[in-house]
Amino acid sequence: MNQKDGRKTERAVTSKEKKEDKQKTACPLAKKCGGCQLQNLEYPQQLAWKQRRVESLVGKFHKVNPILGMEHPYHYRNKVQAAFGMNRGGRIISGVYQSSTHRIVPVNSCMIEDTVADSIIVTIRRLMKDFKIAPYEEDSGRGLLRHVLVKRGFATGQVMVVLVTGSPILPAKNNLVKALRAAHPEITTILQNINPYRTSLVLGERETVLFGPGYIEDELCGCVFRISARSFYQVNPVQTEVLYRAAIRMAGLTGKETVIDAYCGIGTIGLIASRNAMRVIGVELNKDAVRDAITNAKRNQIENTRFYQGDAGELMIQMASQGEKADVVFMDPPRAGSDEAFLGSVVKLSPETVVYISCNPETLARDLELLVKSGYRVQEIQPVDMFPWTNHVETVVLLSL
Ligand code: SAH
Repeated sequence: MNQKDGRKTERAVTSKEKKEDKQKTACPLAKKCGGCQLQNLEYPQQLAWKQRRVESLVGKFHKVNPILGMEHPYHYRNKVQAAFGMNRGGRIISGVYQSSTHRIVPVNSCMIEDTVADSIIVTIRRLMKDFKIAPYEEDSGRGLLRHVLVKRGFATGQVMVVLVTGSPILPAKNNLVKALRAAHPEITTILQNINPYRTSLVLGERETVLFGPGYIEDELCGCVFRISARSFYQVNPVQTEVLYRAAIRMAGLTGKETVIDAYCGIGTIGLIASRNAMRVIGVELNKDAVRDAITNAKRNQIENTRFYQGDAGELMIQMASQGEKADVVFMDPPRAGSDEAFLGSVVKLSPETVVYISCNPETLARDLELLVKSGYRVQEIQPVDMFPWTNHVETVVLLSL
């Protein structure tokens, strides 16, 4: 596998990809799967739809820049999860759950998922027969394999495979690992995750490494990030770079600033920004993510960042009450958006610049209203298409005091 294979923006589009681009028929599984809501639109129309959506929700605050779309909007997902089960004829199937049900829609290849990941999942399905591994049945608790999770670092080519089982014992696991690696030499690590619970969560808490280091690494905007089975990482790395570049450009960093990366996840934005700032303070609720952020700082020999576990708003209130100042706040909240307590703490700390990265334009509109009432002015709005074929749209907004 070519190391730079995933960097679709950095190389010429191949003829197979050109053909795909012209293909007008939608995915044959679209109706059953329901994961891609904009299947009935061609890509340029999807972009126009998203542009209008952002304009109608936040256009009153500022003119909206044209959305940044993908050159080749296929197979962009670096993380693929498949559920395993049995069909009525007793054959093993793997695929996705039909939206809002527990029925598995069989999938061999998906237009938005990484093709290497999809082919590994098909191989595992074949190996299950050879190794007599039955899919796990939720109702009876019989069987073994529940899910397979594959993550691929598009920039590094490293591939992680996680076999999620309902119980700890995986028969003939050494031979299974051998067979899987023989079929896919690109795999760099294999894990078993044990999930005995009746839950819709894919991963359980226990895991053992069957091969390799137990994690993969990927690169974004010149920084290296460690990705473990359970850590959060953006699923479209090509567009994540586009998104982060827009956010960091808007921040207008000169090297003298104190920067807060609120809702920092594994520290990606803060670590990339730290090269152009005096110091960066990251805050995140999830303690595994904070640990990853600290590891990532070391991995990149970055020394001007500090990461804290806790509520982003509380940290800023604390900073304000101790008379500390921040020049720039990056905020990247979950879909529910931010809350009044957090926005109130932004106003209290009163950074000159706020860069709001939003994955939900509805909660963005609500939050901008409050910031604007408190004295901030919207200076730029940039939508980015992180999830082609779906109705999701990401937006970066620059506000200044
Ligand atoms: N900026 C990161 C992650 C964004 S996802 C990236 O680009 O990869 C949003 C993150 O906000 C999640 O990791 C979630 O755990 C965290 N989060 C949710 N509520 C929070 C809160 N009140 N304070 C701090 N972090 C929070």
